Amino acid sequence: MRKTADVVVIGGGNAGTSTAYHLTKLGVKNVVVVEQQYTPFGGSGRCAAMFRQQFATLSNLHVAKLSTDEYDHLGEETGFGDLEISKGGYLLPAHTQEDLDHCAANVKVQREFGFDSHLLDPKGCKEVSPYLDVEGQGILGGSYNTGEGVINPMKLALAYKKGAMDRGAEFNNYTKVIGFNIESGKIKGVITDKGEIATNRVVNAAGEWGKFIGRMAGVSIPLEPEKHQIVVTEPLEYIKAPMIYSLYKYYTYIVQVKHGGFLMGWSDPDVEAGVIDFTPEWKFLEELAKRVIPQVPALANVRIIRHWAGQYGNLPDHGILVGGVPEVEGFFLGLGATKATMFAGGLGTLAAEAAIGAKLSVPEEMVPTYMIDRFAKGNLVIDPALL
Ligand SMILES: Cc1cc2nc3c(=O)[nH]c(=O)nc-3n(C[C@H](O)[C@H](O)[C@H](O)COP(=O)(O)OP(=O)(O)OC[C@H]3O[C@@H](n4cnc5c(N)ncnc54)[C@H](O)[C@@H]3O)c2cc1C
Repeated sequence: MRKTADVVVIGGGNAGTSTAYHLTKLGVKNVVVVEQQYTPFGGSGRCAAMFRQQFATLSNLHVAKLSTDEYDHLGEETGFGDLEISKGGYLLPAHTQEDLDHCAANVKVQREFGFDSHLLDPKGCKEVSPYLDVEGQGILGGSYNTGEGVINPMKLALAYKKGAMDRGAEFNNYTKVIGFNIESGKIKGVITDKGEIATNRVVNAAGEWGKFIGRMAGVSIPLEPEKHQIVVTEPLEYIKAPMIYSLYKYYTYIVQVKHGGFLMGWSDPDVEAGVIDFTPEWKFLEELAKRVIPQVPALANVRIIRHWAGQYGNLPDHGILVGGVPEVEGFFLGLGATKATMFAGGLGTLAAEAAIGAKLSVPEEMVPTYMIDRFAKGNLVIDPALL
């Protein structure tokens, strides 16, 4: 492991690898990444792989654009190859007139921004999503976008890692950060279980562990880990169709990936927050089945072949966090672990730019929406298009 670095990035998930990649693209020569396990051990290796454009705040729309634009050419740009992208879109079914009005308002914002979002009637929903029980569910319509889809999240992290290494970054797996060397309020080094790396810049991209890394440096980060579970079914004949994202009624997502299996998850509002817990639970399977089968009756007798748990790392507004902190000079953030797979491109771009004091690749007025002082000021970026 190198003994010095221009920037140390903590975390080898999608956020950390993308930050390292963008730092090297910006010309930073000596980038060192430290990862306590391997890439991608955390949420990035456990997620549902979806990337999305249907947001309702300009803050999120800009990060989505930076990300989805990058995913279109990242495999080629890095020489990694196919990232298994399939742009089937998301469909957000509306069950009431109120839901439909909400969809219409969000579609308007997204279209004005330049994304290809559409408001569909029930017939349009059935056309794009043939297995959704539109009539039985009394679906009145929904919003749909063609620029969204599925990406292999592990390949995403590995592509960023390759791109960064090809430009000189060093990645250290099985290397755990255990503290910081801070003098007169300034970062002087990152202490790992394999020794110290002298540096005056560190980016905390530790996802759901981000708060604990902050604590080691005396930095307070309002991020809470939250357990999420997911299953994949046996493969069925592949039909390219959107993810069914039940924002309004069942709080589930259902999507078929290219190998034919359906990935499905549910956001349990009663899950215990604040702890890292990778245990899958039977209760989740029962609840998921109750919520999924009414939407897609054809899934009733399909076998689940794997069930696992991972974490979100939720910020109070589920946005992203880049830039410095008031407590320690040289301590920067690269967090947004509610959706750091779909946001990895934008998050890594902005985290890298902020860490070296470069101009951020978003309009000036957006910058405060990604910074940590928005929480103290009460300027949260609440997006009404999120689960
Ligand atoms: C079931 C499920 C479904 C999801 N679906 C989606 C989806 O469809 N789309 C989407 O965008 N997001 C989804 N998410 C969220 C997404 O997985 C996360 O937002 C994203 O993976 C976080 O990436 P990250 O790089 O910030 O964190 P991680 O991938 O968790 O990486 C953080 C890394 O930091 C390392 N680390 C921690 N502490 C230390 C230390 N002390 N020293 C060194 N290294 C350390 C960890 O080992 C870890 O590898 C889902 C999450 C789950 C659990």
